[in-house]
Amino acid sequence: MSKTSKHNFGAGPCILPQTVLKQAADAVEHWDKAGLSILEISHRSPEFEAVIRNTEALVRELLDVPEDYSVLFLQGGASLQFCMVPMNFSQGSPKTAVYLDGGYFGQKAIKEAKLFGKVETIDWKQSKTYTIPGSAAYFHCTSNNTIEGTEMFSFPETPVPVICDMSSDIFSRKIDVSRFALIYAGAQKNMGPAGMTLVIAKNTFLDSVKHPLPSMLDYRVYRDNGSLYNTPPVFAIYTAMLNLQWLKKKGGVNLIARENLCKAQALYDEIDRNPLFEGLAPAADRSLMNVTFKIRNEALEPHFLDFAARRGLVGIRGYRTVGGFRASLYNALPYESVTALVNALRDFSNDQALEI
Ligand SMILES: *Cc1c(COP(=O)(O)O)cnc(C)c1O
Repeated sequence: MSKTSKHNFGAGPCILPQTVLKQAADAVEHWDKAGLSILEISHRSPEFEAVIRNTEALVRELLDVPEDYSVLFLQGGASLQFCMVPMNFSQGSPKTAVYLDGGYFGQKAIKEAKLFGKVETIDWKQSKTYTIPGSAAYFHCTSNNTIEGTEMFSFPETPVPVICDMSSDIFSRKIDVSRFALIYAGAQKNMGPAGMTLVIAKNTFLDSVKHPLPSMLDYRVYRDNGSLYNTPPVFAIYTAMLNLQWLKKKGGVNLIARENLCKAQALYDEIDRNPLFEGLAPAADRSLMNVTFKIRNEALEPHFLDFAARRGLVGIRGYRTVGGFRASLYNALPYESVTALVNALRDFSNDQALEI
């Protein structure tokens, strides 16, 4: 349990390890390396230069990023990527961009893409078998549907450049970066505080862009300036670095993936066993990061939220369009928090049985 004595199942901004919060707080007061606060240092200082290069090195190491890929730190969240991707890779092109519609965030990306070029959509919720036309400008997908609680466990084999929004499951499991032309993720789901967006992109793909773009919307400007074209989100990058150091020390992505699987399994097992509750995602697509479920008798929903809150379980209300509950089990959420939630489901159900 965290120092605030809450079990934080919030979908984002996410729970961060206590040690990371402590280190970040210390650096706000007094960052030894510079003798100033981390909030006051110049982004051009050698101390911050070391931070940003170290963060990049950690991303490369933890995700095994190939040499011919750039690791970039942007702002604007994953939502800015929804428009930056088509601005760069389909604007002015006669080719069609193909988008997988896996849910809420995929649909937001589709809406933006339509402003810049031709878009074809594939409904992943309907079918897991689909073909991507070889003539497509690129194929865009969302690896984890944060709202719906579904996750992609395989990615298509295609010669078309694959672009993936990995906001809510990056660093939660091993991925083969070489299969993607570009990966992006808002930091606040599994990496750090809000304010920073990670982009990992193949250099030849970035260089395929031929039309002029505003500097702040051109990936190559970030690459060619080491993500220091303008003032980057210094504190968000610093805290993400601390979090990635924590992950590395813990054993990296392979180890955390095993833990994440155990956490999700424990919760889904209880949801399936407990007659009062029901999972919301199709069994084969169940996300290991965001577990969506409901109470069969919806009138009990507010009672369960109260019951959970009294036990310090917070952030489990489902997204407004989905309803029910959502428990996010990001990397930093300890197994004991999952146990606390499992116990709450069981005890609430037992109490109901007694009342009947
Ligand atoms: C949260 C989220 C977004 C939106 O991220 P912002 O950083 O708030 O713009 C986009 N995609 C996915 C998959 C998300 O989980």
